[in-house]
Amino acid sequence: MASVTNRPIRMCVRLLLTLIGAAALCGAVPAGATALRINESMCHAVSDFDVSDGEVETLRFACVGSPTYYQQRSLWLRTDLRQLGIARGSVALMVHNSRFDRLAVAFAYADGEVRWQQVHQGDYGLHWRTGGQIVFEAPERPAPLIAVTMRFDRLASHELVRAHLLAREQSSMQSAGMAAAVGAALTLLLVSGIYGLSLAIAVRRQYLAWQAAWAVAMLLWGGLWSQAHLGLFPSLAGTVSAQICTFLACLAIALATASAVTALDRSGVSRRWRMLTLGLGLCIGLAGIPLALIRSGDIGRWADLLGLVILGDLAAVAICLVWGWRHGSAEARDFAAAWGLPMAVLAFINLVDVEDGFWGGGSKLVVLVAATWQALWLVAAATRRVAHLRIERDQARVAEAQAQELARRDPLTGLPNRRGFIESVTPLLNRAQSNQLPAALFVIDIDRFKSINDVYGHDAGDVVLCRIARRIARWEGPICTVARLGGEEFGLLAIGMEGIALDRFAENIRREIAACDHSEILGERVVTASVGVAEVRPACDFQRLYKIADDALYEAKHAGRNQVVLQRHAGAGPAPDVPDRQSKFSRPRRPVDI
Ligand code: GH3
Ligand code: MG
Ligand code: MG
Repeated sequence: MASVTNRPIRMCVRLLLTLIGAAALCGAVPAGATALRINESMCHAVSDFDVSDGEVETLRFACVGSPTYYQQRSLWLRTDLRQLGIARGSVALMVHNSRFDRLAVAFAYADGEVRWQQVHQGDYGLHWRTGGQIVFEAPERPAPLIAVTMRFDRLASHELVRAHLLAREQSSMQSAGMAAAVGAALTLLLVSGIYGLSLAIAVRRQYLAWQAAWAVAMLLWGGLWSQAHLGLFPSLAGTVSAQICTFLACLAIALATASAVTALDRSGVSRRWRMLTLGLGLCIGLAGIPLALIRSGDIGRWADLLGLVILGDLAAVAICLVWGWRHGSAEARDFAAAWGLPMAVLAFINLVDVEDGFWGGGSKLVVLVAATWQALWLVAAATRRVAHLRIERDQARVAEAQAQELARRDPLTGLPNRRGFIESVTPLLNRAQSNQLPAALFVIDIDRFKSINDVYGHDAGDVVLCRIARRIARWEGPICTVARLGGEEFGLLAIGMEGIALDRFAENIRREIAACDHSEILGERVVTASVGVAEVRPACDFQRLYKIADDALYEAKHAGRNQVVLQRHAGAGPAPDVPDRQSKFSRPRRPVDI
């Protein structure tokens, strides 16, 4: 009932969180930044490497069409700030990480002065920022800035170039915002990766291990894409990082697919469909290797092709999840919920160009945030399921302990039964034996009990049994253990008591039982018991003790009932045929029922 009423609340909370997340992301779109685009705000030219930076004025720039044949040469992109009509004060150029050997930026001023700044593959100097950007700040001069020119040597694809012009203060704010967003996302990914891995080891579920591997792959991808790693490994700046990023992105998709498919192992999804989905994921993972190695040629076309395979993979995973969900798989439900946002995000960034938004992080930042969301969601869902399993396991343990306790207790009198008695006295006897202490077992049998049942009824017999059991239970203590051995027979083991004390105790037991008041049920009738006592020094095992006590009880019955017979023995060796205290009766031995 609770789960039915909680469900709409949970759905509302999820929706709210999603909306807050989306709103936060939308709010991150920077204002005031001017995106530089070929054909719109940038003209282009291609030259050989031997053209020096200073010869920029000799180049012929084209302002229409796309640049071609620049992968093994230099691509020049020029922006005239006078035509753009943007503020020409303190300006910064933000270029997003791309695959090139060298990037040189020239800031040209109205007085003819040109100031160059440059970065190389493996050396971004102080120009790199967390969030995948390279920032060039125009030196402040009295003359106004009139043009900005970028020169890329051996650029892999002009389509990968994203550049913005914005005020310096804005660029610092964007960098700080990006650093905070990326830092938070990477930290959460790291935490969820470590936690997911420990969870996978603890509960030995394969899909959790794939999930943790996916979180780690996303973490590495995020670290490399955002250039956070340059703080530690500056020589990885540029193409190498971009290549590893491409491979990690493909690997992450393959791992996510493996995680989803292995989670649906027992969910009713057909094996063939699962294998197909896994195959698609594997293809994407493998495609990452050649794609990462491409340094020239049409990388865009391959990326488009891979995009199609990724869409196919996403669709196959989605079908698996819906299939599993409809068959009642909790894992499928959790995965569908976790994948919901990233899927929507992927669709969103495919339909809407967000490359200039989100503090300049564009679609990559969106993917990183969505992946973090997904990782946290999956870990939370797995934790919830493990918690449920733990609760169920604890309940099962309690139920098992209760069942075991019931198996050791007599339901009518509440005393331990024969099994429980043997279990609890065996360690006591062992200890007494090793400490050379005496042990005495009393077997107490109610006299002519059958006739009570016959005359007053079975229920009356039960009440009498319970009353006598309650009396016997009062002797339970540090040196005495009591039990109902079966039928109308009770047992009492005393450790460390012997001689006259034992004789008196046995006599006391007989007398106290006979003194129990049953007048309510039996009227004037007195219920007595015969007591057989085995006294052994040092203590011996229960079987031997019981055998001696049972013999003594038999003698007490034959001697006329309502009396005590005590047999005293040395502890070691089998029970002798002739007891120390000579009994007046002899009989065939009763089989010992242990
Ligand atoms: P004796 O003095 O020789 O021990 O005679 P007895 O009648 O007590 O012994 P016997 O072994 O002939 O009968 C034991 C009776 O105890 C038989 C059985 O119906 C009764 N009995 C055993 N368990 C219960 C029980 O849980 N409730 C009741 N009401 N009677 C029981
Ligand atoms: Mg009896
Ligand atoms: Mg009996």
